[in-house]
Amino acid sequence: MTDGRFRVLVTDEVDPEGVAILRAHPQIVVVEKPTRPAAEVLEEIGEYDAFVGRSATRVSKEFLQRAERLRVIGRAGVGVDNVDIPTATQLGIAVINAPGGNTVSVAELAFGVLIGLARNLPQAWSSMHAGRWDRSKLGGIELRGKTMAIVGVGRIGSEMSKRARAFGMHVIGYDPYIGPGRFEELNLERVDRLNEALERADVLTVHVPLNPETLGMIGAPELARMNRGAFVLNLARGGVVVEDALVDALHGGRLGGAALDVFDAEPLPADHPLRTVPNLVLTPHLGASTRDAQRNVAVEACEAVRDALVTGDLSAAINASGVGGAGMRELRPLLALADRLGRLGRALVPGALTSLEIRYTGARSEAPRPLLLSALQGALRDVVERRATNLVNVQHVAAERGIETASTMVDGRGELGEEIELRLEGGERSIRVGGALLGETHGRIVRIGAFRVDVAPRGVMVVLRNRDVPGVIGRVGTLLGEAGVNIAEYHQARLQVGGEALAAVSVDSRIPPDVIDRLSALPEILDVRQVDME
Ligand code: NAD
Repeated sequence: MTDGRFRVLVTDEVDPEGVAILRAHPQIVVVEKPTRPAAEVLEEIGEYDAFVGRSATRVSKEFLQRAERLRVIGRAGVGVDNVDIPTATQLGIAVINAPGGNTVSVAELAFGVLIGLARNLPQAWSSMHAGRWDRSKLGGIELRGKTMAIVGVGRIGSEMSKRARAFGMHVIGYDPYIGPGRFEELNLERVDRLNEALERADVLTVHVPLNPETLGMIGAPELARMNRGAFVLNLARGGVVVEDALVDALHGGRLGGAALDVFDAEPLPADHPLRTVPNLVLTPHLGASTRDAQRNVAVEACEAVRDALVTGDLSAAINASGVGGAGMRELRPLLALADRLGRLGRALVPGALTSLEIRYTGARSEAPRPLLLSALQGALRDVVERRATNLVNVQHVAAERGIETASTMVDGRGELGEEIELRLEGGERSIRVGGALLGETHGRIVRIGAFRVDVAPRGVMVVLRNRDVPGVIGRVGTLLGEAGVNIAEYHQARLQVGGEALAAVSVDSRIPPDVIDRLSALPEILDVRQVDME
């Protein structure tokens, strides 16, 4: 801040309605510039308190290191792939994005391309331009009465459902992570298996985040289950639908058509084989590219940047728990522990969560609510679009998904110091997981279900339930060793000799699915789960 005012660099043509919000504040000076080469931005970034841009300017490590005064980065959009978030967090710079503004734009584009497919609009357009009148060749189908299967019923999936119904379609949804209540609210038929969605769909549309579970989710075996002549839409993320398999299914005549807005590699190379498939509608990642969405995200991001600068409110930051104000900074180790317990609990209660409760034992009366929010973020990570939840909206996202939440505080000191206990419930299952803060900074996982453990929440944690018979630890260790997986800690716990036991194993890298299968196949192993703790 110079002369008592904050200097904000705005670039990448952020919508003027957003910029006007910053300009209107007497304590803010806006300097607006077009997108420039990285070197030019680096020269002057040291003069600013905040930066607001879209995806064109890369906020690299060097950018952040040069930005000595920078406190806030605003991204007018959802994706933050262009921002080095670990470095920003390390330097205490808040990163704010605008998660909700483009949902409707994506759903509308999906219907645009769907109608294009149903009525051969791209072909009609090019044949008219070529001087032809192909009326008899370009007959289409109606959407009315057809079945749309929505995979991933989050923000965009829900909007798809409403619109499909308006078209008189029958709509079914597959999303194992939300409960029946939300489906009822949307008046949407819930299917429990992806295969059922595939087999019943005339139109299959995916709206899931990209994560290890959804990468390659719709490949050759899935496409082979679909009705002849069905349409497939991917406006989510490249990789959810396997590109080669899609091309084969289109060439082989199994599918009637498909539409892709997102690709494995973007921009799509000019000579890419996808470009020559006749019944495939391609758009260059246009989902969020509408004036309305750009305005919505600019307003959302600029309001949050203004509040962060002027009032210090960092609650809209996606890395808030890492960088927040003085109070938040003190809570940081506890927030990190709550987040890891959320991830662990979620891995042990697969499927739709219905409730998450947190109990904090300690002396900080301000802790329970942020801890609850952090635990929710951990539990919803990898299930909802990660870039789109922050401490402000996560409880709303949870409520919308039918998850009941509660937090309580026990004033005093736990057996091990400050302690957090989380209880998660979903379907038929519930689990308690507990953690403690040792020496004010070191979080440890100390309880999983009925078992006492003691493991640091780092790397990847594998939770094994096994029968308490001799030799298990050796067999697990050998199997992991042969697969090149390094074990950092191995904690075995049991309730009684010869009964059921539990091992919490901390390893350095994610274990590939085939090794998990081999672990599960060991005769004494009852169950294997792995949780990413980084
Ligand atoms: P969201 O987090 O609101 O919804 C995602 C839903 O997927 C959640 O309900 C979750 O429970 C569900 N899900 C997660 N894993 C699943 C699985 N294995 N099987 C079935 N369902 C699963 O996200 P959103 O805002 O609706 O975004 C959906 C997708 O659209 C994301 O991939 C996002 O990146 C993408 N997107 C694309 C554009 C574009 O320009 N084309 C723009 C915005 C968002």
